[in-house]
Amino acid sequence: MAKVIIIGAGGVGGVVAHKCAQVPEVFEEIVLASRTESKCKAIAAEIGRDVRTAQIDADDVPALTAFLEKEKPDLVINVALPYQDLSIMDACLAAGVNYLDTANYEPPETAKFEYSWQWAYQERFKEKGLMALLGSGFDPGVTNVFTAWMAKHDFEEIHELDIIDANAGNHGMPFATNFNPEINIREVTAPCRHFENGEWVETPALSTKNSFDFPEGIGPMNIYRMYHEELESLTKNIQGLKSARFWMTFSDNYLKHLEVLQNVGMTRIDPVEYQGQQIIPLQFLKAVLPDPASLGPLTKGRTCIGCIADGVRDGERKKVYVYNICNHEDCYKEVKSQAISYTTGVPAMIGAKMMLTGKWSGEGVFNMEQMDPDPFMEDLNQYGLPWTRVEIPV
Ligand code: NDP
Repeated sequence: MAKVIIIGAGGVGGVVAHKCAQVPEVFEEIVLASRTESKCKAIAAEIGRDVRTAQIDADDVPALTAFLEKEKPDLVINVALPYQDLSIMDACLAAGVNYLDTANYEPPETAKFEYSWQWAYQERFKEKGLMALLGSGFDPGVTNVFTAWMAKHDFEEIHELDIIDANAGNHGMPFATNFNPEINIREVTAPCRHFENGEWVETPALSTKNSFDFPEGIGPMNIYRMYHEELESLTKNIQGLKSARFWMTFSDNYLKHLEVLQNVGMTRIDPVEYQGQQIIPLQFLKAVLPDPASLGPLTKGRTCIGCIADGVRDGERKKVYVYNICNHEDCYKEVKSQAISYTTGVPAMIGAKMMLTGKWSGEGVFNMEQMDPDPFMEDLNQYGLPWTRVEIPV
């Protein structure tokens, strides 16, 4: 029996609130807090159970600390934006509260994805006897757990890892992103880094393309190699890993729009003077693009996200693929959201459940693959993200 505060009432925050409310035996009390309280209230009104709401600016550490000291939650689930990670971690430390998020910290002025800032909190969380769980979404999150599960049950050593993320769904809009447009475009336009024979290799964004035949009737789609944050922690924590890559599908239509937006400067994140005001083109673009939360009723089709591990067992080479397929329309029926927010929000709830029930515990800052994957994998099957394991002939 525990109390959680969910910070952020966007696409993901809505799913986390719905899913926590479905597990009252663990999440006894739920408070949904965000910068715009009306969004929290709209989500709370969809949920049958009592979910309290609050207005909070998570960039304001003293105000957030006072709020946490008053509410005394057992855990903060941070599903605001990556920019708020450090201020929320600071407030959690000051108020003595455990912490969970789904995306690593990014400084607003540079699109730089790395765990160093959050790993630097290790000693402070340890000293306070608190736990911070980083990246409990799908990717990062479930992809880390899939890898840890294969390392535990299928391999003595994994040597190569490919994480492959397909959105085979369609929202029918000319151009829209599936989660926060600013965060999505910063990620997609960043240079690609992958791990090859123990070294990081950098290539231009989206410059390496392949085709992958997705299972269960989804079929072949173009996939593009890109940097994704779980590569950093997995290459550190999975012993023996020599090469690791992340791939994502993009439609030709998405790439065409993105190229034009980049060419005309609309994806810039440095301030531009406009009519006596400083504006950041990407933030303005976000304001005119569809809100990802509005795509829920429009999106049809499926997502397929999984990991292919190649390694050794009993001296023999072996290749295993573990994946989840999620249907956009089924997600909308259940929690009024498309599958991208759903596949992020469900693992955030499960990660929180792992911490609150003591199945996952520790003092300090942890990535998902450092925990026992088994209870999390069981819960994925139970709470809406069933997975499949297939062995691929080598
Ligand atoms: P949205 O933009 O839809 O929602 C973000 C929410 O955070 C909004 O309610 C926003 O409030 C709130 N917020 C922003 N700044 C503050 C602040 N200073 N104080 C309080 N609240 C604030 O984003 P998503 O729901 O799509 O994404 C949420 C998180 O999930 C992001 O960090 C994203 O990177 C991550 N994510 C992780 C994935 C994974 O698989 N690991 C996949 C997809 C997303 P307001 O309404 O006022 O703007």
